Amino acid sequence: MVTDKKDIRALSKEQLRDFFVSKGDKAFRGNQVYEWLWQKAAHDFEDMTNISKETRQMLDAHFVINHIEVDSMQRSNDGTIKNAVRLHDGLIVESVLIPTATRTTACVSSQVGCSLDCKFCATARLKRMRNLNPDEIYDQVVTIDKESRHYFNRPLSNIVFMGMGEPLMNYNNVIKAIEKITSPEGLGMSPKRITLSTSGIPKMIKKMADDGVKFNLAVSLHSAIDSVRTSIMPFNETFPLQDLRDALEYWYAKTKRRISYEYVVWKGINDTDEHIEAFVKFCKYVPCKVNIIEYNPIDDGHFQQAASEVLDRYIRVLEDNHIVVNVRRSRGKDIDAACGQLANKS
Ligand code: SAH
Repeated sequence: MVTDKKDIRALSKEQLRDFFVSKGDKAFRGNQVYEWLWQKAAHDFEDMTNISKETRQMLDAHFVINHIEVDSMQRSNDGTIKNAVRLHDGLIVESVLIPTATRTTACVSSQVGCSLDCKFCATARLKRMRNLNPDEIYDQVVTIDKESRHYFNRPLSNIVFMGMGEPLMNYNNVIKAIEKITSPEGLGMSPKRITLSTSGIPKMIKKMADDGVKFNLAVSLHSAIDSVRTSIMPFNETFPLQDLRDALEYWYAKTKRRISYEYVVWKGINDTDEHIEAFVKFCKYVPCKVNIIEYNPIDDGHFQQAASEVLDRYIRVLEDNHIVVNVRRSRGKDIDAACGQLANKS
């Protein structure tokens, strides 16, 4: 439904307080409504039971509460849940709940589609349609928290910005969403449990460091050789590895928090000793850990996961160089919920 009414969640708490004062009400009413909108994630003014009927009607006359709806939910046989969520304008993004024995992780989207063109990623084929608003990112987290409580009897424990989109190309909204997620007036989660994954936009990494963010940073590296990285992640032409390195050194100098590198090993692309050596060298610039990610095919056959001996070799050489390395097994592959598979297939 098209409406001229403003989305009330675009207002800050101060603006909401001012609004009530301008209507001859108490500023405090703004706090109450703010709590309903964020902490209690109300989707309807009718739900605001400690607000008078007249006030609720007045709000309804001025504002809408845009919110996401789960359009479809799929469950993998490994417990992973993928939500296709519909935004207020009908566009769809996907978010994923990943359960392990001890934690529940939400993998959330930051954009509809993506403007980057990573050759191995299904989301890249969608192109970027628009940025998500802070409340649309927040709602994905709230939805997964509810699902975690419902299906696994525990709250959500971790959040990764590894769904659709490049979070640093929607920086302001991602930061606003994280502020709400970590605020006691929102979900009160610790920023230590949040990881933002970027393909590596140097000036935005520096900006984050300057802004004093408290969450973790992961960088999708995949190759430490410029020509190879450019061939699979074309924006590397504009932001080459030297610039990325400078930004990461800056990040570490300011935050003292080590970086995670995401790395997929593909047959014929980055599977030789030359690649391993370049990667190890890159890992020494800034304290880091490495996540080797299993490749999730996106039906084109050009990219293939390297043989396990190659992965073992990567791991051995990294470990010999005292670099912490984890191998991340894919989750939710059967429902196209794994890394790089989010493409609104349904
Ligand atoms: N744009 C951000 C976040 C989204 S992608 C980024 O690039 O980091 C999340 C992770 O999945 C990234 O590390 C990305 O490189 C990886 N990825 C993309 N396609 C993949 C695929 N087909 N198989 C495995 N990992 C993939």
